[in-house]
Amino acid sequence: MKRCGVTLLLAALAGAAQAVPVAVDVGHYLERPGATSAYGVTEFEYNQSLAAVLAARLAVDGVPVRLIGWRGEMAELRERPRQAEAAGAGFFLSVHHDSVQESQLEAWEWNGRALRHADGFAGFSLYVSRLNPRLDQSLACARRIGEALRDAGLPVATHHAALAPGLGLEWADEKQGVYYYDNLVVLKAATVPAVLLEAGVIVNRDEERQLAGAARRALTVDAVARGLRECGVTVGAARP
Ligand SMILES: [Zn+2]
Repeated sequence: MKRCGVTLLLAALAGAAQAVPVAVDVGHYLERPGATSAYGVTEFEYNQSLAAVLAARLAVDGVPVRLIGWRGEMAELRERPRQAEAAGAGFFLSVHHDSVQESQLEAWEWNGRALRHADGFAGFSLYVSRLNPRLDQSLACARRIGEALRDAGLPVATHHAALAPGLGLEWADEKQGVYYYDNLVVLKAATVPAVLLEAGVIVNRDEERQLAGAARRALTVDAVARGLRECGVTVGAARP
């Protein structure tokens, strides 16, 4: 009995020691809210909503979360990883929603508003920087998250790749939707493993409807939670 009690105590201590906070960074801020969606919603609003659902989902696994830029006040990019570090975070995940190049947008009108869409582009993508000092772990986690998103049925957004007329980025892992984006400030300034997630393309009218819904958000945050467990960042307290 005594041995059993000691074993349980050690297991509990191990679990407590591994409950390192995850920083969830809400991409953009109120004054410069990022892309505008096909239906006229700012990217910041989508990022904020998804970050809230993700924080709640990670809490289910017993993972403490530090939200960065939640109130839309965070204008200074380098301040984001700095705050994560100050909070003792062991991982930095920046949450974004994707758009396309200006030349790829088509005009349309909805509810009397002049808006723009690009229905030919869809899917999620993930980004790591080779200038981050923890590239190996960043890449391992991005791959696991990508694999989980693909298992959930989501396509990879390929329009930022080198041969496309967009950002021209190099693939880190094409199959799992991971690009190298070395000069993304929040990724290269972070001293902990860091990944940026573009959860989907909000200028695609169909995909925007999905991204605004609870089902797609639940699917996305489940995949992120699974990916972070599988790459060893989190150890789910609620895991069987
Ligand atoms: Zn963004």
